[in-house]
Amino acid sequence: MDILSLIARAEADCQPIFAALEENEIKNTRRVLDAFHAEDIAQRHFAPTTGYGYDDIGRDKLEKVFARLFGAESAIVRPAVACGTAALSLCLFGLLRPGDHLLSAAGAPYDTMETVIGLTGNAPGNLREMGVSYSQAEMAEDQTKLDVPGVLSAIRENTRVILIQRSRGYAWRASLRPEDMAPLIAAVHEKRPDIFIMVDNCYGEFLSDREPTHFGADVCVGSLIKNPGGGLAPTGAYLAGTERAISRIESRLTAPGLGREVGSYAASYQPFYQGLFMAPHTVTQAVKTAVLSARVFELLGMKTTPAFDAPRADIIQAIEMGAPDRLIAFVQGIQAASPIDGSAVPEPWDMPGYADQVIMAAGTFVSGASIELSADAPMREPYTVYLQGGLTYAHGKLALQSALEKMLRSGALA
Ligand SMILES: *Cc1c(COP(=O)(O)O)cnc(C)c1O
Repeated sequence: MDILSLIARAEADCQPIFAALEENEIKNTRRVLDAFHAEDIAQRHFAPTTGYGYDDIGRDKLEKVFARLFGAESAIVRPAVACGTAALSLCLFGLLRPGDHLLSAAGAPYDTMETVIGLTGNAPGNLREMGVSYSQAEMAEDQTKLDVPGVLSAIRENTRVILIQRSRGYAWRASLRPEDMAPLIAAVHEKRPDIFIMVDNCYGEFLSDREPTHFGADVCVGSLIKNPGGGLAPTGAYLAGTERAISRIESRLTAPGLGREVGSYAASYQPFYQGLFMAPHTVTQAVKTAVLSARVFELLGMKTTPAFDAPRADIIQAIEMGAPDRLIAFVQGIQAASPIDGSAVPEPWDMPGYADQVIMAAGTFVSGASIELSADAPMREPYTVYLQGGLTYAHGKLALQSALEKMLRSGALA
């Protein structure tokens, strides 16, 4: 097999998709610029602060810019919120009270959320221990759509929060575009205006020029070492939503009465602003990498989701490798092309909290940043790998070539 001509053929097939992605990049770059201009962002907003951080203008402005971009009344954007899970947990503990019920509208949530809710493990202070009950509605039509009647009938008297996870995460289901959530959001708000609709927006930002908050979600939550950090933000997470939601959440962020008024950062805020400015471009690079990878493996006869030309709501590409040796060679080939730790050779290992062994490639500048090219897979049938990220399409393409070479050399591809 000639790898270069395979990639060239796939790339030719992808051209119309790439053109649409670049159109979307322009729209989103315009939105980011408009938000920067409306808030009159200047050098002084990059300045570090210490201690309580009263009157930290860099922090306040960053939150205002995010609120505008999400069409939201308010936002919390902080380096001190350690990761996406921490932000989602903060959101849940801010909105829920003992005796309340949490309903997941898109089936089982992301792995780490199961621990927060208390579905797995027994972490002290999880939602179950705090007196919050939980149930979930499954997605309909072969895991492609939210089941609006099903969710409505699962609402209880004490339901306070409905969680919608946008991304497929590491499940073989469709991701949800913001507009796919709109009918459920409208139906819930009509029936029970007191319920908060919270969206786990991880991996979805900038895939289109609207976010779930534009379609009425009460709050959107995500990580800054994924899409909206543009590969430059070193840490942190955001929550954007209605004042009603954010004012409850900010009490848990710091303390009741202090809310968003405190919180300093002793390094510059510049990478957060610059990362947000870069994000529409970086996300486009990552999605182009995903689309090309899907097409290459489709040409090789393998199953992918989404298909290369299907609509996308997140940056994740799932590919069924079908055999363990193929999967391992693929992941090792991605690692070998990483800018950092390129000499590391990933092997399947027993990761805490996971039933099957896991193998992952991640040679990133920002530790664990999955807006940078990375691949993960549980070692179980049908040996599906989840590929995401890529700061540049050129790197994504070279990494794909490296993975195919490794697969050929190891005899995993004919
Ligand atoms: C990444 C992710 C999370 C958790 O974020 P971390 O930053 O890894 O804690 C939650 N939900 C989804 C869908 C994610 O992709």
